[in-house]
Amino acid sequence: MVKSLCKWKKKEVENHLHELWHIVDKPRHICKDCARSSHTKGYLCKPLKLPHDSHSGNRD
Ligand SMILES: [Zn+2]
Repeated sequence: MVKSLCKWKKKEVENHLHELWHIVDKPRHICKDCARSSHTKGYLCKPLKLPHDSHSGNRD
């Protein structure tokens, strides 16, 4: 089950850093309530799609 980043406690962030790296890598959405960002909107409570990124290209 996916828990939204917005609900993560400080301790959970510390305990799931590795997972967090994947979640926030190349963010495509932000939460307009909490100002968090995520690659997947399911991790945000009020997801807002970021404008299409025109210059980031392929970094991996
Ligand atoms: Zn949020």
